[in-house]
Amino acid sequence: MGDRTHDLVVIGAGPGGYVAAIRAAQLGMNVACVDREAALGGTCLRVGCVPSKILLDSSERWHEAAHELPKHGVTTGALKLDLAALQARKDGIVRGLTDGVAQLFRQNGVTRYHGAARLDGPGRVMVEGPDAAMLVASRVLIAAGSRAASLPGVELDGDRIGDSTAALSWTEAPGRLIVIGAGYIGMELGSVWLRLGSKVTVVEYLDRILPGTDAEIAREAQKLFKRQGFSFKLDARVEGALVEGGEVVVRMAGAEPLRADRVLVAVGRVPATDDLGLETVGVRTDAQGRIPVGADFATSAAGVFAIGDCIPGAMLAHKAEEEGVACVEAMSGRAGHVNYDAIPGVVYTQPEIAAVGRTEEELTADGRDFRKGVFHFRANSRARCLGQIDGRVKILADAATDRILGVHMIGPRAGDLIAEAVAALAFGASSEDVARLCHAHPTLSEALKEAALAVDGRAIHA
Ligand code: NAD
Repeated sequence: MGDRTHDLVVIGAGPGGYVAAIRAAQLGMNVACVDREAALGGTCLRVGCVPSKILLDSSERWHEAAHELPKHGVTTGALKLDLAALQARKDGIVRGLTDGVAQLFRQNGVTRYHGAARLDGPGRVMVEGPDAAMLVASRVLIAAGSRAASLPGVELDGDRIGDSTAALSWTEAPGRLIVIGAGYIGMELGSVWLRLGSKVTVVEYLDRILPGTDAEIAREAQKLFKRQGFSFKLDARVEGALVEGGEVVVRMAGAEPLRADRVLVAVGRVPATDDLGLETVGVRTDAQGRIPVGADFATSAAGVFAIGDCIPGAMLAHKAEEEGVACVEAMSGRAGHVNYDAIPGVVYTQPEIAAVGRTEEELTADGRDFRKGVFHFRANSRARCLGQIDGRVKILADAATDRILGVHMIGPRAGDLIAEAVAALAFGASSEDVARLCHAHPTLSEALKEAALAVDGRAIHA
C-alpha cells in the first residue's frame, strides 16, 4: 500500500465535506475526499434532509388528494396508496443526487476514496475499506458529521424501535407510532407517518415543542399539529422502551406507560468524532464530543481543520456548507467568512416553519428594546387562493435603529420565503427597507412586506 499525496484530504462527503472538496479543487488544490459509504452526500443526501423531504412531499400529495382536492372542485375515484412505489421513488431520487455528487467530483478532479478514514499522525490519513490507502497531505479537513443520539434504556432493535434512518424506510404505516422528541426530526417524520395513516403521539421532555424556535411560533405550530391529529405528551421524560408481546411499551418518569406498534427515537444528534484518530495529532474534543476550532476552522493541531456537525453550532447542512467553503478559501489565502447571525432554520412540516436571527425570548433576555410586526397569512390573498391560510410572519426590529434582528414565520412555503429575510438581515436592512420594497402581487412574499409595515403599525391589509 503506497502513500498517495494530496494537497488536502477531506474526511466525510456530506454537504460540508463534498462542497469543501469541490471548492478547494476549483481553487487549484489536489483534493481527496474519503467517505465510508459507497454513496456520496453524507447523512443529508442519503438518510436525512433529502429523503425526509421526498417523503414529506409524497405524503402531502396523498393528504391533499384525500382532503384538499375536493375543496378545489377536483374529485377523484377511490384513492389507493402504493407505499412501495412511494419508497422506490424516494430511493431513485436519492440515487440520482448521490450519483450527481460523484459526477461533480469527476468534473472537478476530486479523488474519492471509499473507506473509513483515521488520522495517523500529522499529515497522514489511513483509509480502510474498498479503497484502502495511506494518504499524505499538508492539510486535513474533518467533516465527519454526526449520528443519532441514543437514549439510555431505549435500545434500537432493528424493527419496532428505530431512529430516523429506520423511519425513512418503513414499508407500512404503523398503526400507533410514538415519537420520542419534539424537535425537527420528530415533527417532520411524525408528519409523514401521521399523513400516511398512523396515530402519532409525540413525547417531549420539555414543556414545549421545537426547542430553540421562537415560542409564539412554536405555540401556533403545536395548535395546528394538534388539529392535524397529533397527540402531545409534554413535560415527559422517557426512561425506557421495551418490546412486549408484539408492541412497544414506553416508560416515562411519573406517568402511565404508553403502548405503540413502533417507536421513533429523535432526541438529537451527536458529533461523529470518536473514531477519527484525533489523539494521534493531539486534538481533544469537548464534553459533547465536538472539536474546538479557532480562526478559519483550525484545530489545535497544525494543518488539521474541522467544520459542520463536528464543531460547535447548529447541526445544519447549509451551515456546514458555508463553513467548508470559508475554510478552504482561507487555506488558499482568500477571506473566507460565515455570517452566523444570518443562518436560517427550517422545519418542513405543513405549514413550514422558518426563522433567521434572534427570537423574541433571546432579545428579552438580553434586555434589548425591540419593536414587533406581525402579519397573518389569512389576510394574504395568495394564501387564500392556495387555501393555506394558517400561520403568520413576525419581524423583530431594534426599537432605536429599526434594524431587523429576527424574522420568524409559520405558513405556506415559509422555507422559501425566509430567503428574503436572510438577505435583509445579512445586508443590515431596517424593517422600513423591507416595507418599501415592491413585492409582486399576489404572492405569499407580501406577508413579509406587511409584517415589516406592521413594525411601524401601518400594515395595509391587517
Ligand atoms: P432536536 O435537538 O431538535 O430535538 C430533540 C428533542 O428531544 C428535544 O426537544 C429534547 O428535549 C427531546 N428529548 C431529549 N431526551 C428526551 C427524553 N428522554 N424524553 C423525551 N424527550 C427527550 O433533535 P432532532 O430532532 O433529533 O434533530 C437532530 C439535529 O438534526 C438537530 O440539531 C437539527 O438541527 C437537525 N435537523 C434539522 C432539520 C432541518 O433543518 N429541517 C431536520 C432534521 C434534523
